[in-house]
Amino acid sequence: MKIIVLPGDGIGPETMAATVEVLRAASQRFGFELALEHDVAGHDSLRRHGATVTQALLDKVRAADGLMLGPMATFDFKDESKGEINPSMFFRKELDLYANIRPSRTWQGVPHKVDAFDLVVVRENTEGFYADRNIASGGSEMLITEDVVVSLRRITRLCCARIARAAFELARTRRKHVSIVHKANVLKIGDGMFIDECNKAARDFPDVTVDDFIVDAMMAHVVRAPQRFDVIVTTNMFGDILSDLTAELSGSLGLGGSLNMGERHAMGQAAHGSAPDIADQDIANPFSLILSAGQLLDWHGRRTNQPAYVAAADAIARTAAVVVEAGESTRDVGGNLGTAATGRAFAKRLLEA
Ligand code: NAD
Repeated sequence: MKIIVLPGDGIGPETMAATVEVLRAASQRFGFELALEHDVAGHDSLRRHGATVTQALLDKVRAADGLMLGPMATFDFKDESKGEINPSMFFRKELDLYANIRPSRTWQGVPHKVDAFDLVVVRENTEGFYADRNIASGGSEMLITEDVVVSLRRITRLCCARIARAAFELARTRRKHVSIVHKANVLKIGDGMFIDECNKAARDFPDVTVDDFIVDAMMAHVVRAPQRFDVIVTTNMFGDILSDLTAELSGSLGLGGSLNMGERHAMGQAAHGSAPDIADQDIANPFSLILSAGQLLDWHGRRTNQPAYVAAADAIARTAAVVVEAGESTRDVGGNLGTAATGRAFAKRLLEA
């Protein structure tokens, strides 16, 4: 498997170095071929190539089997005419990575404020309220006068149908329960279409139970009783917000893995940002990126029917639980190690798994 590795901004290089150590250990332990090719995106690319991402990089990613994208300082990238393109949006749009799979679960050894849970947010990734990706050219947020802004939200039947199918397929490998999250009481047409397409997909999965929740009420339900949820499917912005909540409820934003996947490509990416407040201090939690790398191996293994990658992904998920419980982690989740030492401890445990 060939993976393009883009360390990213802020805590990206530290957390990606730890992740690479884990990936190499996985390849050694499970005997699969792994070629990691490092390149740059974000501020490093802006300095070197005059743009945060380039066509040459995209071509390289297209030809590879997967991409690991470190956290990006997206808030710094405001002017596309100066090469300041949001790399995360760029790859999601160019590679049509329509499904963002964000698992959250509680961990032994990490204090959490709610009952134990294990759920996955399946978030549509290519349209919705995201002004930078929902029209073919330009942005969909407009300054009409100095005092009036219009932001357009795009919802298409195709995108609803394919995210719904991704959620039901995932649910079939888990506890067979899908919860649809929407705001159809206000966004009657768009979210009405979203619900329709989810219900249509449900007909092909009679073994999966379905319920639905209005997004504001969902915030209360997921805090009050997160254990009642298995797979939650929702539109882009609701999924973005809800998955940060579920990651934090599990103990830390730093524990939330995230895979962006389409039919032909996939990108592992931490759920959190570049955390400039803690960059270069060897204190950032690398788990989110490590868990995302595990998800990428799983995607590749299932797609190409190579069990070694799936076994490695499974071992990464199990090892994360062992490492966290043993306190071999960063301070934010109760350990006393730095980022690099956490990566080393993880890799060592994985070699013994
Ligand atoms: P952030 O997620 O970077 O940080 C939020 C808080 O969580 C901070 O206190 C940070 O120290 C902490 N945190 C984040 N990741 C952590 C980790 N791995 N270990 C320990 N603590 C961690 O959000 P922000 O500060 O609002 O954004 C910083 C930059 O990241 C902005 O430019 C923003 O646009 C960008 N961002 C990028 C992505 C992405 O690349 N997918 C996602 C969110 C934000």
